[in-house]
Amino acid sequence: MISAVLPTYAPADLGIEKGEGVYLIGNNGERYLDFAAGIAVNSLGHAHPHLVAALVEQAGKLWHTSNMLKIPGQQRLAERLVEATFADTVFFTNSGVEALECSIKMARKYHAANGHPERFHLITFEGAFHGRSLATIAAGGQEKYLEGFGPKVQGFDQVPFGDLDAVRKAITDETAGILIEPIQGEGGIRPVPTEMMRQLRAICDEHGILLLLDEVQCGAGRTGKFFAHEWAGIEPDIMAIAKGIGGGFPVGACLATEEAAKGMVKGTHGSTFGGNPLAMAVGNAVLDVMLEPEFLERVNDVSKTLMQQLSMLADTYPDVIEEIRGQGLMIGIKLKVPNLDMLQALRDRHLFTVAGGDNVIRLLPPLVIEEKHIKEAVEKLGDACKSFSEKES
Ligand SMILES: *Cc1c(COP(=O)(O)O)cnc(C)c1O
Repeated sequence: MISAVLPTYAPADLGIEKGEGVYLIGNNGERYLDFAAGIAVNSLGHAHPHLVAALVEQAGKLWHTSNMLKIPGQQRLAERLVEATFADTVFFTNSGVEALECSIKMARKYHAANGHPERFHLITFEGAFHGRSLATIAAGGQEKYLEGFGPKVQGFDQVPFGDLDAVRKAITDETAGILIEPIQGEGGIRPVPTEMMRQLRAICDEHGILLLLDEVQCGAGRTGKFFAHEWAGIEPDIMAIAKGIGGGFPVGACLATEEAAKGMVKGTHGSTFGGNPLAMAVGNAVLDVMLEPEFLERVNDVSKTLMQQLSMLADTYPDVIEEIRGQGLMIGIKLKVPNLDMLQALRDRHLFTVAGGDNVIRLLPPLVIEEKHIKEAVEKLGDACKSFSEKES
């Protein structure tokens, strides 16, 4: 008999009662160190007092009006995002995939508004993940997500990861832009080198096409900059964000320059829930914390410590760990043992992580972790590595 919840997920058989900062507490009363953060979502940990207060306060005032009425919190959050980024304008969504849908539609509409509706193709990269809608499974191009869901949505031309020549060759007079994650998340924490990001920007400028970034996972402070592309010193035309920007409340957004957004006039796009007052109250509260001057500095400091200790682990267990990669607190451990076995071994040791492509374990802890949490995580990782290492010898 089918389960009451559509069986598309395979959740761990473990009930979680509540969260406290960097820990999750099971209904068995046990504590788990959470280096998964709901897949890079709980950027400020669990039950952050400032976020709780903002949500509770808004909950007592107003939950929802729809966008038929002005939402002051939305105006404020948009202005703050515009102030802090390349963008001139923001469309709010409830998820990452909707932020991508808006981004893709915007890129197509831009060229249509310029009199070139035939320019609707986006160049994407192998190993990419952009969500599970019909358009974004076509963008991601992974057979396992496309299979059985009918004709692939047209207009996505995929090239090998990191292959600039292939990008240049793929550009035709039907190309609207390039869509890329600055660090592939689901693909296994594969960073695009900063020089390549600059080249992509230059290629877009040269051909009059748009650079679209998917920072759903790598954005919102995750890499130690507010957004990951800042490391390359470039700016996109359009950017999709979500996950960490809501701190656990469903918030997404499509950010764009005025030029890129020029086709998105009244009536061209919409969402009933997008930018709802509860979501905006939490989004603003996340920014209160994340835009504090010291916040990202601390992310970079703890990242350095964690990376150093992981490198030492990799040196100690070369038969288990192949490589440590990533930036800030978006870290991939590429393994020589099956990543799902490692995920379970870590879970048995009360450390939550996330599996990723390319046989990687992802460490995506809340951005508020401290040295003591790193120490605890590295001990558990070391213990798990040891168990695999002994098995092999
Ligand atoms: C998670 C993710 C998405 C999809 O976000 P949802 O909120 O699950 O729809 C898109 N792109 C990237 C890079 C992601 O990590």
